[in-house]
Amino acid sequence: MSALMGQMMTTPLMIGSVLRHAARHAGEVEVVSKRVEGDVHRTNWAGIELRARKLAQAFARLGCEPGDRVGTLAWNGYRHLEIYYGSSGSQLVCHTINPRLFPEQIAWIANDAADRVLCFDLNFLPLVEKLAPEMKSVQHFVLMTDRVHMPAASSIAGLLCYEEIVDAEDGAYSWPDFDENTASSICYTSGTTGHPKGAVYSHRSTLLHAYAAAMPDAMNCSTRDVILPVVPMFHVNAWGIPYTAAMVGAKLVMPGPHLDGKSLYELFENEKVTFSAGVPTVWLGLLTYMKANRLKFSSFKRTVIGGSACPPAMMKTLQEDFHVEVIHAWGMTEMSPLGTLSKLMSKHDDLPAEAKQKLLETQGRVIYGVDMAIIDDDGRSLPWDGVAAGNLVVRGNWVIASYFGQKDAPSPLVSVDGEPGWFPTGDVAAIHPDGYMQITDRSKDVIKSGGEWISSIELENIAMAHPAVHEAAVIACKHPKWDERPLLVVVPKPGMSPTREDLLGFFEGRIAKWQIPDDVAIVAELPHTATGKLQKLKLREQFKQHRLPGA
Ligand code: ADP
Repeated sequence: MSALMGQMMTTPLMIGSVLRHAARHAGEVEVVSKRVEGDVHRTNWAGIELRARKLAQAFARLGCEPGDRVGTLAWNGYRHLEIYYGSSGSQLVCHTINPRLFPEQIAWIANDAADRVLCFDLNFLPLVEKLAPEMKSVQHFVLMTDRVHMPAASSIAGLLCYEEIVDAEDGAYSWPDFDENTASSICYTSGTTGHPKGAVYSHRSTLLHAYAAAMPDAMNCSTRDVILPVVPMFHVNAWGIPYTAAMVGAKLVMPGPHLDGKSLYELFENEKVTFSAGVPTVWLGLLTYMKANRLKFSSFKRTVIGGSACPPAMMKTLQEDFHVEVIHAWGMTEMSPLGTLSKLMSKHDDLPAEAKQKLLETQGRVIYGVDMAIIDDDGRSLPWDGVAAGNLVVRGNWVIASYFGQKDAPSPLVSVDGEPGWFPTGDVAAIHPDGYMQITDRSKDVIKSGGEWISSIELENIAMAHPAVHEAAVIACKHPKWDERPLLVVVPKPGMSPTREDLLGFFEGRIAKWQIPDDVAIVAELPHTATGKLQKLKLREQFKQHRLPGA
């Protein structure tokens, strides 16, 4: 007998439908942006939707075809939001690029994704003018501003004005339906080996992720919320907030590039923000400013902190001094990014305060849509006893199966107890019997500073080019403010004695300033395996007590 099929509509999960929903059912709910130009701009979901429709028309007029990539170099703001929807909603692919990367990396990523259009904020004009000749695939450069702010002259031939291309359209466009597995967006993550790799999200994965993010044990978002994503829209789609906010019809407040304590505090208060999200370091400036000026929040209730381990002291300060609930979260670009969030279960209500706090300090429990396991090096699953630590693997509706352009490459997925299809996160974790996951280490060879990746391999390659360096290794060193900072360990060439200043100076101009190692250690030799592979874990152990300058 054949199975009885469901008889429901098979409406595809489309990003355009989320914005259409927001415009129809929360049309007057505001979207407020602190602009790059300095002022505050106000619109609402109906306004965003109309302009996103016009933008979709403008992209088509520029000759964009389904599947074409639209790159962005932009801060959090309404125009960026319109691009998210205007591109994905019209079957183009929104490719957010992290402007904090080194210029050569930005150009490399734009080329790898073969971006056809590049939209960028006003303050990135000098950068894009420098990079434009390298960006071979880009046919249209769009400056995200109005005519008044357009430069009198630019080295970019045919530079387009965002407001002009939007204004030229009539908005007579309706969001099309197509296969929900179509690519909607791409985010690059610094790989552990060599070049960054792209995670390609689909309409379906993005919508399911947005649904899950809104659930009570996740971000708990509703139409009553005023959401300010401090996490940038170029950092894994601001953790899905641009979609979740539209889905629930929440007010959205965008800080632009104004992320200093004073600007953020004023925006939180003026717009009555209730919920926010960001990496741990973004809160430092805000909390320091508030403490110095004896300020309190009047509306801010809860925040998700993730991307790097949230220091327990920061959690305590937010909870006890500022009455803000901290939801510690873990995820990664390859997971859209949400995986786990830390909230208490009702069975924990009677636990002593300290035990509750310990659970909240873990990276949390998975949300439905993602599953996880910890495994040993032979792929056998380990018990959830809060003690055994192993390689953390995940699978689910918004977890990648392969990287951009590598569909035919060997699959990155691994097996758990013989069952294939799990993505290895490169994190090492233990899992508490109640399902609370705790990151204990990282097996991937990268450094995470203030929520941003630094590729150790890239730094090592630069160091190795130094004439006095025989061998170089870069490892993560604990840092109280940035969580981790790079330490360069060098074996000099025989008879040479390079200085710290000389070695660090060598990185200037070769990598972004914030990626330059904090310190250098000169050693006689580095630990190797029998096959000659550098033993990074051993090296990290060796320098566990190393104090970085200023740390
Ligand atoms: P995101 O920063 O949005 O989580 P990335 O892909 O840039 O996404 O980084 C993912 C990696 O960051 C994880 O694999 C993990 O190593 C680290 N990470 C993310 N969240 C946490 C957390 N809460 N605690 C510890 N490490 C984290």
